[in-house]
Amino acid sequence: MKRTVLFFGIAMFLLSSFEVSGQRHHHSIKKVVIDPGHGGKDPGAVGRKSKEKDIVLAIALKVGRYIEENHKDVQVIYTRKSDVFVELFRRAQIANESNADLFISLHCNASKSASAYGSETFVMGLHKSNENLEVAKKENAAILLEDNYKVVYEGFDPNSPEAHVVFTLYQNAYLEQSLGFSMLVQDQLRNRAKRHDRGVKQAGFLVLYKIAMPGVLIETGFISNANEEEYLASEQGQVFIASAIYRAFKEYKQNVEKAGYVQELAKVNEPVVEQKTEEPELNGNIAFRVQFAASKENLPLNDPGFKSLGKIKKYLHQGMYKYTSGDETSLEAALKHKEYVVKKGFKDAFVVAFINEERIAIDKAVEILQKRMLVN
Ligand SMILES: [Zn+2]
Repeated sequence: MKRTVLFFGIAMFLLSSFEVSGQRHHHSIKKVVIDPGHGGKDPGAVGRKSKEKDIVLAIALKVGRYIEENHKDVQVIYTRKSDVFVELFRRAQIANESNADLFISLHCNASKSASAYGSETFVMGLHKSNENLEVAKKENAAILLEDNYKVVYEGFDPNSPEAHVVFTLYQNAYLEQSLGFSMLVQDQLRNRAKRHDRGVKQAGFLVLYKIAMPGVLIETGFISNANEEEYLASEQGQVFIASAIYRAFKEYKQNVEKAGYVQELAKVNEPVVEQKTEEPELNGNIAFRVQFAASKENLPLNDPGFKSLGKIKKYLHQGMYKYTSGDETSLEAALKHKEYVVKKGFKDAFVVAFINEERIAIDKAVEILQKRMLVN
């Protein structure tokens, strides 16, 4: 009888291990993949004096540098950092293997009409116009330079409009977040980089097809337009575009982390009795842990059911023994650890906060930490 809670946990773990591509919850942004399109033998679109592969690499390295310089807590991963050829499937693989929270693919557009200009940002989905289909066809055609593309992409023909209908079956688990980021990108490109805003669009891009995270493909501008090519190829133009994308990233990160924080607060449904002690706040020890189980019985911490969860603690709270994993000094770190605990099958795990081993509300703990930062 007393094992009910544990058996439930183990059963959930087994079930979840069969989920091949379960949706991760991206409540914080710790890893971003920057994907400069094309490279090596694939120049991408070619203008009068420049190539897409060189322009997007230069912009990508700048975006990555701005992120690294301003967010020490974010890891930047590039699909390429030099002029090399990388297959489309490999780009998605790099993103998935690194468990990234956001994927940003960078490209330049080209059109038969020399007057076409401006920036647009795509999310994965089915094209709603022929124009959008043409952009996807052009970018997907990069696979024709891959050695084994017929096998790898199961006969997908990038030149065929019919082939692109396969994307009607695509279920975009990250549509909302991807659209949110796209809109920020377009806002910044319009307002900061003064680009003509062609909007946020959907189309079936192979590079976005398999990624398990929010992701976008940015067509920074038209290399086929003489004026815009001039801008895209210039150091100043690249700095403006990279800063616009960086600012969108920064805003997106803030939005996601705020939303994650609010969700976390909403989940804590146990009323926390306010402490009567008078202001131990400026020296009490604050800890954030992930609560994953509760039981009326006092279970041993070395129970095999707990093994995968690392450092386990328990505390008695409102007549129940409550079990926590992890021991973090920031809410951010605890939210990250919660993702791990959830992955281990404890889907209802949530973050709890303590001061000197006494349970307190999360917002209280955050407030105390903020006060301390002001004092120091
Ligand atoms: Zn491209």
